[in-house]
Amino acid sequence: MNGQPNTDIAQRIIWLIKIRFLIILSILVIVFSAHLLGMQFQFPFIYILLFFAFIYNFLFYYIGKQFPFYLTTTLYNYLRIFTDLLITTILVHFSGGVDSPFNVLYFIDLATTALFFGSSLGILMSGHAIIFYSLNNFLEALKVIPHYQIAVLPNIIYSDPGYFMLKSFSLFFIALALIYTMSYLSMKIHEKQEEVEKLSADKINFMNMVAHELRSPLTSIEEYVSLALEGLTGPLTPDQTKALTVIKKQSKRINDMVNDLLDLAHIETKMNKFETYNLPLVNIIEKAVCEVSPQITANNLSLEKQISDKLPNIPGNEENLLEVMINILSNAIKFSNPQGKIKISAEQIEDKVYVAVKDNGIGISPGDIDHIFEKFYRTSSKESARRKGTGLGMALSRSIIEKHGGRMWAESEGIGKGATLMFTLPVK
Ligand code: ADP
Repeated sequence: MNGQPNTDIAQRIIWLIKIRFLIILSILVIVFSAHLLGMQFQFPFIYILLFFAFIYNFLFYYIGKQFPFYLTTTLYNYLRIFTDLLITTILVHFSGGVDSPFNVLYFIDLATTALFFGSSLGILMSGHAIIFYSLNNFLEALKVIPHYQIAVLPNIIYSDPGYFMLKSFSLFFIALALIYTMSYLSMKIHEKQEEVEKLSADKINFMNMVAHELRSPLTSIEEYVSLALEGLTGPLTPDQTKALTVIKKQSKRINDMVNDLLDLAHIETKMNKFETYNLPLVNIIEKAVCEVSPQITANNLSLEKQISDKLPNIPGNEENLLEVMINILSNAIKFSNPQGKIKISAEQIEDKVYVAVKDNGIGISPGDIDHIFEKFYRTSSKESARRKGTGLGMALSRSIIEKHGGRMWAESEGIGKGATLMFTLPVK
């Protein structure tokens, strides 16, 4: 902590204090109307009370402005709300006790407390309010303190125009205060949401820019290394060939990562400009299998396909869906053990196509299963770390599937028990 208050919360508390000046003014208007209507309020006491409320509110405002650190402390806010509830109770007492039109003021204090400081302080202060309110009513009932009758005709206050006009007035002002508070909060939520969206867009733009900047030097490195390896820059010693081969392999890895990053940025930013065609999904699966079949043979794996004959055409982007299938199959190959088995299945159930790629490889632990779709996430298991990767393939694949209106997830019974990567795509 750097000793600085959270400026956002501090700002909200100052706003709350300012709005209380408005509430005090509203009460003054109501009381003044009551005066004109000939109600039997204890006017001198109430005017003094309102003056006192104005002074202590000003004090809280002054302390908050001069020493912003206190604004966010529990003690400061507790004292502030405590004083408010106490003054409200005294006001209620002098304006009719249980009949007082100011009873609703408790709700403003308690609702704003809960909204701004959470339910714990809200509940604590409700407890205070109930005690103050009941204590006043009890003391009045037991005649320990006087009860100030406000209606002209006792017992039939519903027919007293002064009383119900006053009640309407106070309801109106209280409603105004609540509306103002609610709209202030909703405006704040909206502002925060815009801020988050902007930050996320900035992050994607930055990622995009870095990836772009990296691409050309990387391509030069790869090209020059290839030229050198082909002997076009002069004869190489065996050690130099070995070193250049490592450089070539590693720069290819970085290049793959940069390309994945650019694809991801492209998918995330071009959310709405997405061209889709009616595609036979079965062809995409076959194409992907064709691409990865050299790796399947090289790793001595077996591949089984269970693709329904009735697989419908789906609206989608061929290039992107092919990328998803290749990513999933490449992972199934990469995370399989020698002589492992991979099974692809695809079928339509109701209005969705389900595609699953199951392997009996190293598996995924329950703690990792939902994280593998996060950018740069690679599981920490030793077996997984041994097999190189960027941690972007699954993030990219899920983004593509979601952009198509589908869902993508993984299932595994645990480490060493294989994994199944699945996705759905809507048919229409
Ligand atoms: P990577 O380039 O590391 O493969 P991915 O985003 O494709 O990145 O996958 C993220 C992580 O998810 C992998 O590092 C791996 O730990 C885990 N994973 C993905 N597919 C499988 C699978 N079929 N079997 C086991 N683990 C998998």
